[in-house]
Amino acid sequence: MSYIQENINEVRDNIYNICKKMNRNPEDIKIIAVTKTVDIDRISTAIDFGIDAIGENRVQEIRKKYNKIDKKVEWHMIGHLQTNKVKYIIDKVSLIHSLDSLRLAKEIDKRAKNIDKTMNVLVQINIGNEDSKYGIDLDDVHNFIEKLESFKNLKVQGLMAIAPYVKNPEAVRPHFKKMKKIFDDLKGKDIENLEMKYLSMGMTNDYLVAIEEGANIVRIGTGIFGKRNYNK
Ligand SMILES: *Cc1c(COP(=O)(O)O)cnc(C)c1O
Repeated sequence: MSYIQENINEVRDNIYNICKKMNRNPEDIKIIAVTKTVDIDRISTAIDFGIDAIGENRVQEIRKKYNKIDKKVEWHMIGHLQTNKVKYIIDKVSLIHSLDSLRLAKEIDKRAKNIDKTMNVLVQINIGNEDSKYGIDLDDVHNFIEKLESFKNLKVQGLMAIAPYVKNPEAVRPHFKKMKKIFDDLKGKDIENLEMKYLSMGMTNDYLVAIEEGANIVRIGTGIFGKRNYNK
């Protein structure tokens, strides 16, 4: 059995067990296999073992790989997106996790409109208030989402966060709790292009804590493909 298959099975088992414990349906948890630095062969293997959504954090890498993967899979943009690069991925990705400014929203809306598409997006929250991370401040989220209503080719499907990196994932539980609370608050908002459906949080180190706190999308790289090799 390939190590990728073993890893996928392990992730699935872990998710199954935590969901049983939490009384949640494991099928409600969407796994995004994060494929940055991962080559085409290994991505194909993961797809063969049931991965149906992959996440990349750089536009360049999506462009490089997109045509080389001939299997059916959803592409997700999970990294910071520069306005001038939206045009390269607008026709390729099914969800942008990293909407973090009005300027970007405007560009996505414009490019989506050009190709007659409604682009699904998540609003990225800077949950740890870290200078090094992109995202909207927690206090500004309501306001930001209200301003998105005018972008008709944008559909806001939820929130995304990257928790601060810590050794012990228990340390980020309070951040995930806060995310879930805003997620639930926003569900009640009457905004035409808003449908709070996805809460994208949790990576290899902290996805089980994230699921316990309500995540329904987890983004897993190392846990599926092993340690990344940036030199290739
Ligand atoms: C790399 C990356 C991940 C996956 O990280 P792992 O720790 O390898 O699981 C998840 N989300 C984003 C935004 C990333 O850039």
